[in-house]
Amino acid sequence: MDEVRQAIRDVQHFGEEGGVVPVIDVAATSTFLDPADMEGVFHGTLPGRYLYSRHANPTVNAFGKKLAAMEGMEAALGVSSGMAAIACALEQILPAGGHIVSSRTIYGGTYALFANIFPLRGIRVTFVDPDDVSAFERAMEPGTKVLFTETMSNPLLGIGDLKALGRLAKERDARLVVDNTFTPALVSPSRHGADVVVYSCTKFISGSSDLIAGAIVGREKFVEELVDIHHGVVMLTGPVMDPHIANQLYLRLDHLPIRMAAHSRAAGYLAGRMEESGVPVIYPGLKSHPQHELMKRMMHPEYGYGGMLTVDCRTRDKAFALAARLQGEKFGLYAVSLGFSRTLMSCPSVTTSSEIPPAEQARMHLSPGLLRLSIGYTGSEKVMWERFHHCWKELF
Ligand code: PLP
Repeated sequence: MDEVRQAIRDVQHFGEEGGVVPVIDVAATSTFLDPADMEGVFHGTLPGRYLYSRHANPTVNAFGKKLAAMEGMEAALGVSSGMAAIACALEQILPAGGHIVSSRTIYGGTYALFANIFPLRGIRVTFVDPDDVSAFERAMEPGTKVLFTETMSNPLLGIGDLKALGRLAKERDARLVVDNTFTPALVSPSRHGADVVVYSCTKFISGSSDLIAGAIVGREKFVEELVDIHHGVVMLTGPVMDPHIANQLYLRLDHLPIRMAAHSRAAGYLAGRMEESGVPVIYPGLKSHPQHELMKRMMHPEYGYGGMLTVDCRTRDKAFALAARLQGEKFGLYAVSLGFSRTLMSCPSVTTSSEIPPAEQARMHLSPGLLRLSIGYTGSEKVMWERFHHCWKELF
C-alpha cells in the first residue's frame, strides 16, 4: 500500500545551503575548465556532464528522477508538451520509419499525429479496436515496432489490457508504449508490461491548468538515446522542458497521489449518484463499466478510479445546453483539458476528438452528445451533485 507515494517521497534534491527544495538551475550552458573535456562530451566519452540545457539540465533531471521513481522505471525525461512526448518517443523508436499498431480510441491530437503527420515521415499506423487484443495481433506485420494505447482512453474511458498487450509486444519483438495521462499514480504501466510510458503533464501531474508539459519514461538507455547529441530526437528537434516548469512539476509530484485520491473520491461520489438517478454515466469505478474488473486488477486501490467520467446527452445540442447550464450554476468550466483542481467539461466529438473523422467516431462509439467531465475536488461533493441534478432534470 502507498508504494507510489513512498517512491516519490524517497527522492530528495536539496537547494544550495541545504534548502529543502532544489534551486532552479537556469543556466543555458556550462563552463568547462579544460577544453578537452568539452570535446569529450561531444564524443560521448564523458557521460553525465552538463553541457547545454537542450541536452541536459539539472532541474529537469531532478523532475525526471522523481517521475521515474513514481513509475518504478529507470529514467524519465521532461519535454515541452504531451504531444512532444508522444512524437519524440515514437520517432526515437522508429528513426527510419516503420509500423505501429495503435488503439483507435485515443486523444484526437494523437490520432491526427498518427494519421496525418507520421505517414509523411515514413511511419504507418494501423488503428484497431482497443478492447480486442487479437485485433492488435492480427494487425501486426513482421516489422511492427510499437503497440500504442492509452491506459484509460480519451474520451471514452476504456481501459487498455496492458498485461496482454505487453505480452504480445514481447513475443513479437515490439515495444508497448502507453499514454498514462488519465491515470498517473493510479496505474503503473511498467508493472503490466509497458516499455515506455508517456505523459501529458499538462493534466493531472500539473493539477493547476497553468502550464504545458510532457514526459517520457523508460529504460535509462532509451532516455539517454532521446538526448544523444548525434541521434536524439529530443536533442535535435528541441522540444525540451523549461527548468522553471520542471521545478514546479518536481514539487507538485509530492502531492499528486493525494490529489488523485481526492479526484477519485469526488468523481466516484458523483458517478454513483448519477447512476442511481438514471443518468447515462460512464465511470471506471462503477461495476457497470465494461472493464471495471480489469481496472481493479491494474490499479493501486488507494488512489481510486480517477477523476474522469462521461455523460451521454445523445445530441451535440443537448450536451451544449447541459454544459452551459452547469457552467451557469458554477458546477464546472467549459474548457478543454483535464486534471484541474476544479471541474472541466467539454464535448469531445466536436472539440478534442474532432480530428477523428465522423466514420471513425461512429466506429469507436463516440456519441455526438458525449460530455466529458474532469471532476475537480474543490467544494462540496454533495453541492456538486445537487447542482448537476438540478440542471439535468431541467433538460431531460
Ligand atoms: N495524451 C492525452 C491522453 C491527452 O489528453 C492530451 C491532451 O489533451 C495529450 C496527450 C497531449 O498533451 P499536451 O496538450 O500536453 O501536448
